[in-house]
Order: sequence, then C-alpha cells, then structure tokens
Amino acid sequence: MGKILWIDLTNESFEEQELSEEVYREYLGGYGLAAKLIYENMKPKVDPLGPEALLGFFPGILTGSAASLTGRFMVAGKSPLTGTWGDANCGGYFGPEIKKCGYDGIILKGIASTPKYIAIMDGEKKILDASEVWGLDGVEAEEKLLGKHPKSQIASVGQAGENKSLISGIITDKGRIAARSGLGAVMGSKNLKAIVLKGDKKVEVADNSLILEHAKEYNKTVKESEAGAIYLWKSLGTPWQNDVNTKLGDTPIRNWGGNSDDHFTLDQVEAITGPEINKYKEKEYGCFACPVRCGGIVKVPEVDIEESHLPEYETCGAFGHMLLNNDLMSIFKLNDLCNRAGMDSISAGGTIAFAVECFENGIIGLEDTNGLMLKWGNADAYIELLKKMINREGIGDILADGSKKAAERIGNGSEKYAIHSMGQELAMHSPKYYDSMGTTYAFDPTPGRHTAAGLDMFLSGPLSRSNGYIEGFAFPKRYKRKPEPRAEAFKMVVGLAQSLSCLGVCQFTLYFQKYPLLEFIKGVTGWDVDVGELIKTGLRIQALRQAFTLREGVKIAENEIPKRAVGINYKQEYERLSNKLGWNPENGYPLQETLKDLNLDYLIKDLY
Ligand code: SF4
Repeated sequence: MGKILWIDLTNESFEEQELSEEVYREYLGGYGLAAKLIYENMKPKVDPLGPEALLGFFPGILTGSAASLTGRFMVAGKSPLTGTWGDANCGGYFGPEIKKCGYDGIILKGIASTPKYIAIMDGEKKILDASEVWGLDGVEAEEKLLGKHPKSQIASVGQAGENKSLISGIITDKGRIAARSGLGAVMGSKNLKAIVLKGDKKVEVADNSLILEHAKEYNKTVKESEAGAIYLWKSLGTPWQNDVNTKLGDTPIRNWGGNSDDHFTLDQVEAITGPEINKYKEKEYGCFACPVRCGGIVKVPEVDIEESHLPEYETCGAFGHMLLNNDLMSIFKLNDLCNRAGMDSISAGGTIAFAVECFENGIIGLEDTNGLMLKWGNADAYIELLKKMINREGIGDILADGSKKAAERIGNGSEKYAIHSMGQELAMHSPKYYDSMGTTYAFDPTPGRHTAAGLDMFLSGPLSRSNGYIEGFAFPKRYKRKPEPRAEAFKMVVGLAQSLSCLGVCQFTLYFQKYPLLEFIKGVTGWDVDVGELIKTGLRIQALRQAFTLREGVKIAENEIPKRAVGINYKQEYERLSNKLGWNPENGYPLQETLKDLNLDYLIKDLY
C-alpha cells in the first residue's frame, strides 16, 4: 500500500509515512518492516510500558491478496516480558483490514490520558472514548464495538492486557490472540482498549492472474486431500498432535519434569485428543485466503461455553500435559478464559505448572494460594487460579507476569521450577525431541519461541526434500549427519522462517506440499525474487532483531535454558550456527562485515 500510519496517543494525532520500494524489498512486511521502523524511531532502553515505547501492527507483504495462506499479521515492539525484541504472529482477518485501510502497518506511540480506542472507518480516523468497553473481555468488547462500527475488524486487549500482565496478548476475531512476548501489556499500558478498522481500499497487486493461477491449483489439492498432513490440519486442527506428539516425546509433561510412561500415559491422553475435542466442534473456519481452515468454533454446554475457539495444540499441552490434567472440560474452560482475557495460554499453563510444583514441594502452601489446592491434575483449582491471574487477585498478582518474575517474588529455591527463557515460558515442543529447539529457545532474539527458526521441526514436511517446498530450495548434502552442513541448513532455515513470517505466510505451509511462494511474491509485488534473496532477506531481518535485543543491553549469548529442557548440546549448535551466520558466538554480535553484506551498515555505529 506504500504507507505506514503513525498514531500518537498522547497528542491524539495521526501521521502518514511513505516508504520506498527498496525498503519493502529489504524488509518485506510484518515484523521485518516493523523492526526497521521501530529500531530507527525508538530510543534504546526505554520502558516498554512507558510513553516512548512503540507498538506496531503489521500484516505480511502478501496479506490481503488471494495468495493461499497469507492472511497473517504481527504485533511488534520491545517485549516487557523478556526485555528483548518482541513479536507475536496471528491469523484471522485483522491483518488484511490494515491493508484495506491503505496501510502496510500501524505504529502507536504515547499514552492516552484516559481509556481510548482508535477507529479508522472508510478513511476517517478517530480516537474515541473507551469507557464503555474498558473492563470487558475481548469478546464482549468486540461485540459492543461491532454494534457501533458494523463490519469492522477489531484488535483489543482483555482484562489481562488492561492489568498489564506481562504474559498478555492482543485479541482479534473474538478470541484469536497474538499472544507471545507480552505485547498485550504494552497496548494496555497505552490506555488503548482497541483498534477498530474498516477499510475501503482495494489491495492492489502486480499480477492477479498469476496469483490466481497458482492459488487455484494449490487450493484444489488442499480441498481434495483425504490423507496426510493437510488432512490432519483440515479435519482436526492443531490438536491432532495431542497424542501423536506425546508418543514422540515432543510434548513436555509435568512442568518438563515428567514423561508419558510414568506421569501422563497415552491412556490418559486419550481423553484430550483431537477427535475427542472435535466432538464439540460446531463449525470450521479458516484465516483470510486459506482453504485449509484449521480453526474451529466449539460449543461446550457442560462448562457454559456457547461459542469459543477450538483449543490449539499448544494450549492443550500447556493446560493438559504440563499439569497432568486430562479433564477435557477444564481445557475448554481454561482456553476460553485465556482467549477472552487475552492471556498467552503457553505462558499461563507454564506458570500454573510452576505454581503447582512449588505447592507440591512445600514452597508455597494454602495460606499463599488463597486456599487453592494446587496439586497435579486438580483442574478446578487451575480454573480458579487462572481467573486470579487475569484479575491480579491474591496469588494471581504474583503469577500474572510469568514464572520467572513469580520465582523472584516467591524465592525459597522456587526458581528451579520456572521453565522459561529470559522470562518467556517455553512452547510445547521439547529440545529432547527436536534437537535444534534448544538453540532457538535460548538464542533467538525473541527467546522461548518455537516458531522462530527451529531446523528439525520444519524437516518433517516437504522442506527436507530438494525443491520439495519451493523450487530452488535444497539443503546441503549430508546435513542430517555432519555438523558443518547441518549448521548451513540451520542458517537457511533461519532466513526462510523470517521471510515467510514477514511475507504473511502461515508456517503450516511447511508441513503440507510444494508452495508457489516465488510466484505469489511476483504476483503481488512484481519482483523476481529467488531463493537466495529470500534467505538473505530473512537473515537481514534476523540480524536486525538481534541488534535490537543487543542494543537493549541484553547479553543474549550468555542465556541458558533450564536443564529439564536440554536435549543436545545447544550451546555448541549455537556456536556453529553463529559462525555460519557471520555472528560472534561469544557475544551474539553480527560481525561488521556481515552487517555490511546485509545492507545493515547503519547498525554498526550502535553495536560497535
Ligand atoms: S492453516 Fe490454519 S492457521 Fe494457517 S492460515 Fe490456514 S486456517 Fe490459518
């Protein structure tokens, strides 16, 4: 669309910024473009919950077009949870609406004097009083705002964001959350309840017939598929992994300290599998331009849920396996509470597991938990505890900022039960199963993330076959056995993963079939991008995210993940990867020649 919208909440003013085509080609959209603009315009070391903190909402560069599975957007800024660069990725329909309003991104600054919401309706921009919706959960707020602004798309914070919980996210589509990195707290700290968008612009593309030709072909195979990965996602959504990943040893059990032989057996998991969850599915839905439609709406009268989103695999793992809880009703309830309040279910589950282990080991007692029996598997207590976390009541106030902060407050040796990376709870994928996940959890500029760049997780799909995912992408020979080619393969995945996200592409494409990515890029932008450029662009974005984190004074190269989550020697893997990336493994700094090669010369004065 060629433009970014800056909104100053202190002065209630709007400003448009035009960008050159060169900037788009170098940073794409999503958090790549956000990182470029936020890095340049935000002073280092500002309070992420203060007026100088910037918060960006950026769709991918392909988002809003007919290209298959490209409907995603990203929220970006400094993470108040980890103190590093922070971003969170979400599907649904909010991302395309940013484009329809005429923008490739919206950046917020300042703090509103009283609770406000932003409304951009058919070109008219307003900052309006939010007192009627402040205090409501994300679903209630969205319904109320839709009454005033029909046919709009809405991003809001629930009570968790309003209460500046550092594990809160931003809600769209009545309960889908851009959840990680604690960016809901940043929005809440700005006294901003919601952004309401209804655009009247067409998303122009360079060659729509090229996009349609490839989208039709791709979508046809998706629709016809009756087996394999696409079918699993189509029929069950991500919970198809609930039992499969348990068998593999991928899903962490009992706060990362258990296993499926002794603590949470496959028989127990049977109660919370994809097919069991599917019995409550009322309808399927997909993100914008997605024929896979892995999302679902459930109705669960047993726990008074009229309409809620299907719990994702990550949520089932965090509230199920991690807590030795196979009470499916409670998982529906905990999921719904998180979706409405805007709390990250991975971090919420990880933090409750921390509290349970503290209770089981006598570090905290009933007098600390407001009478809640935080025993393994006590689902009713988890529901009450989550409500307290959302509302910052009693022990919930201590837990509302994640397990690291809670351990600092509780003391008494509790830190050994806080399973996090720089404050962010680890996702539901174990480095004991996916070797490279340890490196990613520890050393990605946004720590604790499973979607950041893990090599091994992406190898279960067509990417592992030469030209299997996109034409021209092939890993070096013997990368599965030899450290050097493996490090090169890891580097390629780091680049590819950043580019995919910043293009707005759903990462699930990596598990499906050959994807016409280069054709979609050409169709939308007119650019002839090859695989080499795609990877290099992703490496530029990764180096910039890293530079942001380093400029904040974070010693990321010294980070460690908890022993329970360690598989292979992740530090050695990181060292090899750093050398391939052209970064100094000692301190994580991209070398000067690397920065020059990536056209990031402007970072040299800050880092050196
Ligand atoms: S596969 Fe699922 S998450 Fe990905 S774009 Fe489609 S509906 Fe959204």
